[in-house]
Amino acid sequence: MQHHLAHSTTRTPVGAPHFHYQDHALYVEQLAIKALAEQYGTPLYIYSKAALKAAWARYQEAIDGRDVLICYAMKANSNLAILNLFAQWGAGFDIVSGGELARAIKAGADPQKIIFSGVGKQAWEIKAALNAGIKCFNVESIPELALIQEVAATMDKKAPVSLRINPDVDAKTHPYISTGLKDNKFGIAMEDALATYEHAMCLSHVDIVGLDCHIGSQITELAPYQDALARLLSLMDQLKSKGIQLKHLDIGGGLGIPYLNEEVPHPRDLINTTLATLQARGYADVQLVLEPGRSLVGNSGMLVAEVLFLKQGESKNFAVVDAAMNDLLRPTLYDVYHGALAVELKAGETQRYDVVGPVCESGDWLAKDRDFVIAPGAFIAIESAGAYGFVMSSQYNSRPRAAEVLVDGDKSYVIRRRETIEELFEHEHIPNAI
Ligand SMILES: *Cc1c(COP(=O)(O)O)cnc(C)c1O
Repeated sequence: MQHHLAHSTTRTPVGAPHFHYQDHALYVEQLAIKALAEQYGTPLYIYSKAALKAAWARYQEAIDGRDVLICYAMKANSNLAILNLFAQWGAGFDIVSGGELARAIKAGADPQKIIFSGVGKQAWEIKAALNAGIKCFNVESIPELALIQEVAATMDKKAPVSLRINPDVDAKTHPYISTGLKDNKFGIAMEDALATYEHAMCLSHVDIVGLDCHIGSQITELAPYQDALARLLSLMDQLKSKGIQLKHLDIGGGLGIPYLNEEVPHPRDLINTTLATLQARGYADVQLVLEPGRSLVGNSGMLVAEVLFLKQGESKNFAVVDAAMNDLLRPTLYDVYHGALAVELKAGETQRYDVVGPVCESGDWLAKDRDFVIAPGAFIAIESAGAYGFVMSSQYNSRPRAAEVLVDGDKSYVIRRRETIEELFEHEHIPNAI
């Protein structure tokens, strides 16, 4: 068993300055997280409006009046209140389902700034998007193009489309979140790109407006984007020679965030290098579109859990908390690191723990080998939980989903109340006949 000295072993939260320690207590903006956890209960997702605004500002300031549209990839966090903030700030949205379309519109999105991605669009979803008047469909296959043409024809509309081309670059990220390689379900292969555009040109109810790619997620270097851009530009040259004019180029999302202390590119550098390259190649009039998800929300949220029990094992100690893989799936799904902070720093000898949940799976862990001075009843905050956190949660083990709270200065708002036990089975029926 390992013992570590002192109570000052903590570090600055990755969501600083919006998440910070003050007198040995963890704060979100002006509110103590302990007080929020006691008021709203745990497990609890807490988001900082100032952190969201700051993440948005990193993109917005980079644009500096140029023709760039940021379409927030809302699958990262689709709470209506968060979507509403981004809509107020002028964001467009990247959606991947009819459900997301409905959410975005409910949250106040401008349909003309919505782009529709995803490999499996269905007729009802295409119809809803055409009715809403979205900016474009990012088309991922020839059969999808045919379906869009068919649906648009029955509605007597022209569907704006952009083809998602797979540039076959390695984003050097986790295989589950790398999407730009050849043997991947996403997008149209580069070698089929030109022929697919020419085919789309002949379709009566399809209007070609753009070119799209998305190479992966949690990308921590600019090089993969530059490789992808080089390949897309040579395609754009070929399209131009065939008389196909593009209104926009969409380079997808994927910019990484620090989960601990990783260096990640600033959106400004991605935007500036891309615009400079477009200009140099004679495409200054093509609008640049980006689809960031994680980098707009990831470090704006934490998941707070209460310590239920401390278990001393032979070679490991466990802090069993009331949040689990059903609340935050990323550690289990991708085997990735999330910071874990004591909500109150106590004096004493630190001990090393795995932070685990109550779910009946060995894969149910949130953090491994972390040093705390902690006791049952204390709270632990899992960092970087603003992206792919609540949205991936489930009721596995019949656990009601957590509440979500948005903090703005010294005020807090419930933006999703905790589910009740009754809601666990409210859609289920025992047939009379059995
Ligand atoms: C998931 C996704 C994004 C956002 O990715 P992040 O890594 O969260 O920025 C953007 N575009 C598409 C098509 C996606 O599937």
